[in-house]
Amino acid sequence: MQELIEEHQKQEKDKVKRKIFKDVFDDRTEKALQAIERRDNFDYIIGPISKGKEANLFVAKAKNKFVAVKIYRIETTYFHRRNDYVNDEKLLQISKNPIKKIYAWTEREYLNLKLCYENGIKVPKPIDQEKNVLIMELIGQKGEPHPTLKYDKEVKKNINKIYKQYIKNMNKMLYTTKLVHADLSEYNMIFFKDKLYFIDMGQAVGTNYKKARDFVNRDIKTIVKFFNKNGLKTTIEKIKKDIKKYKD
Ligand code: ATP
Ligand code: MN
Repeated sequence: MQELIEEHQKQEKDKVKRKIFKDVFDDRTEKALQAIERRDNFDYIIGPISKGKEANLFVAKAKNKFVAVKIYRIETTYFHRRNDYVNDEKLLQISKNPIKKIYAWTEREYLNLKLCYENGIKVPKPIDQEKNVLIMELIGQKGEPHPTLKYDKEVKKNINKIYKQYIKNMNKMLYTTKLVHADLSEYNMIFFKDKLYFIDMGQAVGTNYKKARDFVNRDIKTIVKFFNKNGLKTTIEKIKKDIKKYKD
């Protein structure tokens, strides 16, 4: 009996949560969530994870599991200044329509994740995408997102493992998937259960893009600082050499 009561109370709480979060989304986002719900990849929002420059992240329930929901904000203005990143012909053509541009950006993050995932790079498994909403695997336990390297207290202890997997992921990303992350820092990596995940792939571009080399150099420079700060002495040259010579 007690169990039944608890279950009922939980359901009531879930309903309330569902209502709270339902009211904060604009119509387009709400419709996108409903479409994803019909495909069984979303039930309801549990709570917020973060509010970034252009997207909000949530933990949600989908059937019997937890997922991460990334919602690109439609009203965002920052977004329209990011033409610099857009290398894709299709994205450029439709960039005059700001809403379609956000949809295309979301789709690109979904496809980038898919490409990486299929090539064995550790990224959250992409599950679904509709308009400005992306559903992916939640990296973490029991509905709790694991912190990124920036906020992870176990980083120093695991720094050698993190380095090895960083090199492996980079090799596969540059040479197999032929993508450059273009915003890779300790804020966009998660070390969970002995595996290093790359996240936040919306801005990733093909290695044939004219600025790709600059982006790779910038990403590596950022990460050298991170490793040196956490007790693993390295240099840009050493990292580049290690990435090239990495064999599975
Ligand atoms: P920012 O603008 O701050 O770079 P963003 O809006 O581009 O962020 P993300 O970096 O993709 O969005 O996600 C924001 C935060 O949400 C991440 O820093 C991470 O803490 C968390 N997060 C994102 N995806 C996942 C995931 N799949 N599993 C667990 N946590 C996640
Ligand atoms: Mn990020």
